[in-house]
Amino acid sequence: MPDVKYCYCPGCDNLRPRNWYARRNCEICGKECVPIIVKRTIFGLLMYVLDAIAIVLIVLYASYYQFKADWASFFSTVPSDIATILIFGLIILSFVFAFIDLSKTTAIAQQKVEAIRRNRPAHKIQR
Ligand SMILES: [Zn+2]
Repeated sequence: MPDVKYCYCPGCDNLRPRNWYARRNCEICGKECVPIIVKRTIFGLLMYVLDAIAIVLIVLYASYYQFKADWASFFSTVPSDIATILIFGLIILSFVFAFIDLSKTTAIAQQKVEAIRRNRPAHKIQR
């Protein structure tokens, strides 16, 4: 399970999640930021599990209902509308867990930033 990466810019005192495409510099002032890495919570794990189940269901659904694949014929026991509701339900729940995970990891990242601020002489922080 990948960790959540944040970028803390000491220059403009800004904390934001670091996207996979973002460079190691602040998106606002361009200064090199301090990477802050936070482990995902149980909600992050649940998000991955629900996504994985949803993907399996989508593959089964498409294989049986769209392509009439023989190997997926056991899926006929699941009515089409139930399968659709289940897939959407899993995806929505996964979004909810992702949101909870992000708010918890952001709170942890903010605590780490507080520690950085405390260890730094006040006159060195440029706002
Ligand atoms: Zn900055």
